[in-house]
Amino acid sequence: MSDSKDKRINKLKRKRIWPSILGLFIIVLFFSGILVTQLVFNASEIVQRKVFEGISLTETIATVFESYEGEDEKRIQDAVSMHVEMLPQIEAVWVSDLNGEKVWANSDMEPNLENEIEIIYSDKESLSLILEVAGSQGVTNRGNTIVFDEEFFKKLDIPAIIKSGFSMEHYINNQKEIIQLKAWYLQEVDDLKVYVLQDVSVYEHDFFVIVISTVLFGLIIAVFILYYLSSFIGFIISMNKTTKVIYTDMVTGGNNWLYFVKKGNQLLKKKSAASDYAVIYFKMRKYRSFCTCFGVREGEVLIERLYTALKKYVNRNEVMAYKQNSEFGLLLAYTNEQQLCARIEGMFSALDAVLPRMKLYFVAGVYKVQRQDRDIEQLFNHAVLACDMLGEEAENRIVFFDVEMNKRRLWERKVEDDMDAALARHEFQVYLQPKISTAQEVLSGAEALVRWIHPQEGFIPPNKFIPIFERNGFILKLDDYMLEEISKQQALWIRQGRKVVPISVNVSRAHFAKEDLAEHICSIVDKYHVPHNVIELELTESAFFDDKEVLLQTVKKLRDAGFVVSMDDFGAGYSSLNSLKELQLDVLKLDADFFRGAEAADRGMLIVSEVIDLAKKLNMKIVAEGIETKEQVEFLTEQECDLIQGYFFAKPMPISEFEEKYKEIL
Ligand code: C2E
Ligand code: CA
Ligand code: CA
Repeated sequence: MSDSKDKRINKLKRKRIWPSILGLFIIVLFFSGILVTQLVFNASEIVQRKVFEGISLTETIATVFESYEGEDEKRIQDAVSMHVEMLPQIEAVWVSDLNGEKVWANSDMEPNLENEIEIIYSDKESLSLILEVAGSQGVTNRGNTIVFDEEFFKKLDIPAIIKSGFSMEHYINNQKEIIQLKAWYLQEVDDLKVYVLQDVSVYEHDFFVIVISTVLFGLIIAVFILYYLSSFIGFIISMNKTTKVIYTDMVTGGNNWLYFVKKGNQLLKKKSAASDYAVIYFKMRKYRSFCTCFGVREGEVLIERLYTALKKYVNRNEVMAYKQNSEFGLLLAYTNEQQLCARIEGMFSALDAVLPRMKLYFVAGVYKVQRQDRDIEQLFNHAVLACDMLGEEAENRIVFFDVEMNKRRLWERKVEDDMDAALARHEFQVYLQPKISTAQEVLSGAEALVRWIHPQEGFIPPNKFIPIFERNGFILKLDDYMLEEISKQQALWIRQGRKVVPISVNVSRAHFAKEDLAEHICSIVDKYHVPHNVIELELTESAFFDDKEVLLQTVKKLRDAGFVVSMDDFGAGYSSLNSLKELQLDVLKLDADFFRGAEAADRGMLIVSEVIDLAKKLNMKIVAEGIETKEQVEFLTEQECDLIQGYFFAKPMPISEFEEKYKEIL
């Protein structure tokens, strides 16, 4: 597949799925990160704030005791109670002297001096100092007390505190309190130590705003993710749809050619040594005529049915698709050639059964995949080429590709590319091969045979290009050219006062499609005012298979116009004798095959003498072609064959050489 084709397909399929998945992953990770950070940050902020509040509350209580000495117990009691009422987080107050002896308390709760939190500061300045100067560790052990500084609160880590054996009650409550925390705060006033038990728990309502904002934030993220997810799913669905459309054939509803190429190449890549693969080109012949008779819609319905019939024969490790114009491509696994042929025959039967009352013609070209083969389109071309090698009437419906075919195709290409220029540049040259009379052994005629003198390829014999021209129709131009060259030559010789002998030109079968062939030939010859009887026209036997009416008409017109008409290659085909009955011709050219091979000796010679006899009765002249030996000449003379053409006398030669060789006669 070409690069640009690949690009176009990828463009249709759009980008790959991975960037989208990665994008989704990153978005989820990013937003959940933000969410968690926000939660953690806000929670520790609240706890921190609470703990600091505790410090200032302790300070407030401590002021009550600032001038305690001998104060009225009742007044103190009232003042403390007032504060405790106002500040619900204060649970108990306990005062001792510097030695730890209890001096005053408002309840029977007392601090466990052994193991409690102690916030140490003697006055406001020292508190702010402690708060300002953040210790590197944040926690200092001093006997039974632990000192926090600001840094500590900043990185307050509740689980770590529990682990450090700290007796602070802490747990995550499943009810109202989220973090339950009670602590004795201490402030020294004059010679007293004031302990205040405070509840610094964090409650749900503390979190309320955070929770709301977090939930809102989470909702936005969720909407965003949902939106992204839905468009992502939509993207996957549409991608699948596009892929399906790209690989679906609109006529059959099955796999299309792109799919065949993709899957085929994958299979070729994975191909194991155990199984061999073959690429098959299937074609229905005369599909165009079918469409002309029944319409294109019917044609497409037929293709769809053929596809369905074929598909049943294709296994999972194989692939098949419809290409165009009734052509199918298949990649089949096989074990040996025989089995493969049997399988293809089975397919033919299945296809034939699609329209049982109508004769459908199928052909298959087969290319056996080699180890290094990777490009299925190239291999398919080989299979097509093999199939092209089947003639129109070929009975054999399966043909295997061989390397020679490829060479032939390349050569055909070259010939077709060069032919027009070659004709214009007179690269086609007329060679003449003499025909010698058996009676006097003198020159009595000649055949014009073409040679191509190619500027790069050099001398090219006709069998290398005539069959190609016959297929592509160029033979019409070439034969006209040859006829014109011969007419020119004869005209020249006549003007020079030389004796001329009839020269034959080959008239290819393709000409007989034209009803005005006789007029056409006359017009060419008449341009040079050449008497028609010095021009002989050799028709090949195969021309007799075509439209007989046109042929008979044309031959009659040509003979009436005075041309000599001969049947070339007599005996090379099948229906020669039959055609002789229907068609009155002047000359019969015995095919060279009569004088070749093992049978030539007796059976061949017997036939030759019989044919000569018959031709004589039909009033025809006989020319024997391809005569190479003295014995053959003697035999033909004996049989009263009129003329002999063959290497024994001369090979075809350029006109100048011909003139030189026969200058005495001409
Ligand atoms: P063809 O018309 O049957 O021509 C006779 C062929 O037999 C010539 O081959 C000739 O060279 C060859 N030949 C003659 N004597 C002998 C012999 O003793 N031994 C052997 N082995 N071969 C001999 P060539 O020239 O190669 O032409 C081949 C065919 O190409 C011709 O067969 C004819 O069918 C076709 N052809 C040649 N020139 C033209 C042309 O101008 N127009 C058309 N339509 N066909 C042409
Ligand atoms: Ca001939
Ligand atoms: Ca011949």
